[in-house]
Amino acid sequence: MATLQSAVGEGAPNRNPDVVAVQTLLKQAGLYPFKADGDCGPKTKAAILKLQKGFLTHPDGRVDPNGATWTRLVAAAAQGGTITSEWSGDSSRWTQDKKLLSMEPFLRARVVMIVTDLKLQGFQPKIFFGWRSVAVQEQLFKQGNTKVHFSFHNGQKPDGTPNAYAADIVDSRWGWGDEAETNGFWAALGKSAKAHGLVWGGDWVTFKDVAHVQSRQNSELAATKTESGL
Ligand SMILES: [Zn+2]
Repeated sequence: MATLQSAVGEGAPNRNPDVVAVQTLLKQAGLYPFKADGDCGPKTKAAILKLQKGFLTHPDGRVDPNGATWTRLVAAAAQGGTITSEWSGDSSRWTQDKKLLSMEPFLRARVVMIVTDLKLQGFQPKIFFGWRSVAVQEQLFKQGNTKVHFSFHNGQKPDGTPNAYAADIVDSRWGWGDEAETNGFWAALGKSAKAHGLVWGGDWVTFKDVAHVQSRQNSELAATKTESGL
């Protein structure tokens, strides 16, 4: 595998062989349909930005040796396209199956059990969010719907494949409406989640998040971010 001696892109040293390596990978990833000439101009920088927009909150147009962008670029080139393309768009609109696939395996299995439990009780559970991108997370932050820039919903493998440690589950008839509370949906969700070893957001005092379940403790958030290459 190619390696970089120094950074490529915006404000970087842009050594000719490093630029050729980055351009070649961008080309294999389908992001740069030009000649790998070793000259880091606007087209190369635009291609780097395009790659970064899929997974970074603040794209900087720069590929650092062994950095998150480099890891992502190598993975995208290896599979002949950006991983983000198949996982792009509004993840709240994905099918239930795709939302399940976007979760890490332990959480996925528990969410399936919770959905079954709730259906047996006459509810109509629906996964609203499994994984979501950090770009969507940023929008939710600006709207005041979350207090963190990185959440367990943003968990991913270093190559960018979704690997969420959180899911939001609602009843399709009520969403976050009052009926969900009065009909006991949140209580039933919390009970089932905890019975299956998950953390339920309805137990939080400072920021009660009744639809939210997660497979890790809040104290593991920073580690999850690092593991995600973010
Ligand atoms: Zn959530």
